[in-house]
Amino acid sequence: MFDRTTLPYGVFSKAGGPKRIGVAVEDGVLDLAANLGSRFAEGSLNAFMAEGPASWAEVRSRVTELAQTADLVRDVELHLPFEVADYVDFYASEQHATNLGKMFRPDGEALLPNWKHLPVGYHGRAGTVVVSGTDIVRPSGLTLPGPSYRPSAKLDVEVELGFVVGVGSELGKPCRTGDFADHVFGVVILNDWSARDIQSYEYVPLGPFLGKSFATSISPWVVPLAALDRVPAPAQDPEPAAYLQVDGDWAIDLTLELSRNGEVVSRPPFAGMYWTGPQMLAHLTASGASLRTGDLFASGTVSGDEVDQRGSFIELTWNTSFLDDGDVVTISATTASGRYLGEVSGRVAAASRS
Ligand code: CA
Repeated sequence: MFDRTTLPYGVFSKAGGPKRIGVAVEDGVLDLAANLGSRFAEGSLNAFMAEGPASWAEVRSRVTELAQTADLVRDVELHLPFEVADYVDFYASEQHATNLGKMFRPDGEALLPNWKHLPVGYHGRAGTVVVSGTDIVRPSGLTLPGPSYRPSAKLDVEVELGFVVGVGSELGKPCRTGDFADHVFGVVILNDWSARDIQSYEYVPLGPFLGKSFATSISPWVVPLAALDRVPAPAQDPEPAAYLQVDGDWAIDLTLELSRNGEVVSRPPFAGMYWTGPQMLAHLTASGASLRTGDLFASGTVSGDEVDQRGSFIELTWNTSFLDDGDVVTISATTASGRYLGEVSGRVAAASRS
């Protein structure tokens, strides 16, 4: 349950009524349209997120006061909190990239030569980002042996954090790492569902495609940057290019928790991620690519040093065991001090008949 200080934003409705913007407070929701006016009677956070950091700070200050005294709404339905513009997924955990490198290239270097020079990423599918609670239909695709078109036998999860862009940028003008807090509104907990058998057959030479495009689940509550705890990031060696250098402490100090059917299977720590959010933002725009309100860029699978800190089943079971139909997977997050930051959940549904 959220406390009275985190105050994440989401979109809710009650008994089939209209969607409105709300803030989670303990076991209830603060209705912003009722308390702060009709600009919050919206079906997505996009317009509010586009207003920028001065407006975010002002509203958060009002919400902090209201959260102590205002009436809360209960028994609400939660919706996808923002319209996703573009979706990018990075690969920022050294431990995860090393584990997968060892599995897929047992005779080569675990980390490819570019990995410590730039945050490796790819563009994903924005239209299949779904809110927590949405069933995930087991994907089908061409897999070996054959290849034959069949339901995936290696359906997996990836425990990630997603950064949500509020303020866009100009085409042709890269963002600097120092611009991060001017553009990024907050974070969601994210599950990048992955079909390992589809992925391993299709990915050469252009990277992930259908093995990851069928669904990406996000938490219904977007935690504002102001509610996160930050600590120094791990040292980087070699020193990154100038456009990737960062001032300030930008490692986010939270621990994710992965559960399958109610049983905790790992607790990946986020603060140890090699690449930080500001570096991902600078790299994403380094070519001059612009940002739009609602862009979502995810961290990549979060894995720590220990076996019980790995953020995917392919790492936890070393490519031997994956999800069954009916399994419910939940990823939650808490700060180092134990403050709850939300969760994302999804149930695996049987493959469609093909
Ligand atoms: Ca991923």
